[in-house]
Amino acid sequence: VRPVDSLVHALRRAAAATPERTFLAYFDGRIGYREADELSDSVAGHLAARGLERGDRVAILLQNSPHFVLAVLGAWKAGAVVVPVNPMYKSGEVGHVLRDGEVAALICSDRAWEGYLRDTVADSPVRIVLTGCELDFQTRSDARVLAFERLPRAADADDLTAVARAGHRPPEGRDPGPADIALISYTSGTSGTPKGATNTHGNIMYNAERQRTGLALPEAPVYFALAPLFHITGLVCQFGACLNSAGTLVLAYRFEAGVVLDAFAEHRPHYTVGPSTAFMALAAHPSVSRDHFSSFANISSGGAPLPPALVERFRAGFGPYIRNGYGLTECTAPCASVPPHLEAPVDPASGTLAVGVPGPDTVVRIVDDRGAEVPFGEQGEIVVRGPQVVPGYWRRPDATAQTFPGGELRTGDIGFMDEQGWLYVVDRKKDMINASGFKVWPREVEDVLHTHPAVREAAVVGVPDGYRGETVRAYVSLRPGAEADPGELAAYCKERLAAYKYPRQVEILPDLPKTASGKILRRELRSHAQESR
Ligand code: ATP
Repeated sequence: VRPVDSLVHALRRAAAATPERTFLAYFDGRIGYREADELSDSVAGHLAARGLERGDRVAILLQNSPHFVLAVLGAWKAGAVVVPVNPMYKSGEVGHVLRDGEVAALICSDRAWEGYLRDTVADSPVRIVLTGCELDFQTRSDARVLAFERLPRAADADDLTAVARAGHRPPEGRDPGPADIALISYTSGTSGTPKGATNTHGNIMYNAERQRTGLALPEAPVYFALAPLFHITGLVCQFGACLNSAGTLVLAYRFEAGVVLDAFAEHRPHYTVGPSTAFMALAAHPSVSRDHFSSFANISSGGAPLPPALVERFRAGFGPYIRNGYGLTECTAPCASVPPHLEAPVDPASGTLAVGVPGPDTVVRIVDDRGAEVPFGEQGEIVVRGPQVVPGYWRRPDATAQTFPGGELRTGDIGFMDEQGWLYVVDRKKDMINASGFKVWPREVEDVLHTHPAVREAAVVGVPDGYRGETVRAYVSLRPGAEADPGELAAYCKERLAAYKYPRQVEILPDLPKTASGKILRRELRSHAQESR
């Protein structure tokens, strides 16, 4: 299989070679490769007929459904730049993205359009709207997941499903090249106002190709889309990698542990990638069994810290080994991962699980505050150069110059590298807690909490403290049926961590706040801590 320039070309290649193979499986609906090519051609033809030009921005605000995939491919075939938007965003957040991205077209669900987007769009540059009901393209409506009824057609928006089925021809000469911007990906916003990273088609194809050749998956692999497709991990490592391998992508609307396990049983996937919190939720589900995971050749966790205790619990309970992977929106998902035939070592001194080794052509360096490289084993900021690093942020020359000096990505993460070349992520620079002048990295304390049998999720933040400057506070949710009290959890950590590191305060919550991509929002926990003082 020869590498191609973009996922549009990967779709055409697969539609020619394996036209009848299932590309998208959605509950009991299926769309084959030829059909997906035709449906997305028609979306492209419609967008062009409505006046969309090459390089215009198309925002897509949909869950993991065939609509998402057809909308992205249709927009790319029309030569547009896709702006994936988190469907959990509120009106003000969507408005920011529509204006910042100067978005010309919006593709969203009927429900979101009727619910709040019509008003949001009124105050934005958007001039073309397509809405779809994510019940279409599947025949069994699963009341638990798709608990909404079909709405009457909006008069002020075109119907995405009808447009896709109208048989329009795509515009000529709009095929993207490797240097063209494919996506403006607004970062998850765990640390502030989202900025748009400009991922090119070349950036995406580099990582999609790495996944095709580096995962040891069978021919025609079945991927399960555990991570949301609007997030770079889901978009590149699931949709992109699957399409590049002419595989089958199983979609299940949005993450719900019971529905995901049913889909595993029905579709027998070979591969999935998700945030560690998704694996915690699956492991804690009452009906989970080893059988659910027996078809997997590989499982990866990415985009958030992976506690070593979860890896062990998962392997002992269900079989698969969860491979760590490290990436950022700014490097189009992964820049380091664990090769399939290896297991990530745990650093004996700190108990940190390695995130992987950098991919080919990728140079990862660890530097000090002055930008000088530090020796093996020493901590510093992780900087990355490689074919997956984006050229910069959308219309932010200052932020681009600051984050990508000389084209190298300054990640803002602290890490170290061992002599074998394994990379370890300590934590985000900005999440460091300064307790009585000592550095405390939240992840190290979280890893200890995760070894406690009652703990499901743990997150640690620094809270202002008159005596110590900052003090360590832990938020924890418990496994179903498990019991533990805050004092016991604090004592458990005290036995295992230096006196300045263990959490003086522990609070148990039913669930920890997370982004739609499954990352724990330490920022929200910090304000919770402030309010409860
Ligand atoms: P924002 O930039 O708006 O705060 P975000 O940083 O969550 O959002 P992403 O690009 O989705 O945006 O996340 C990248 C970050 O996730 C990395 O900088 C790193 O801190 C963290 N991360 C990713 N993979 C891992 C991993 N395997 N282990 C530990 N941390 C990880």
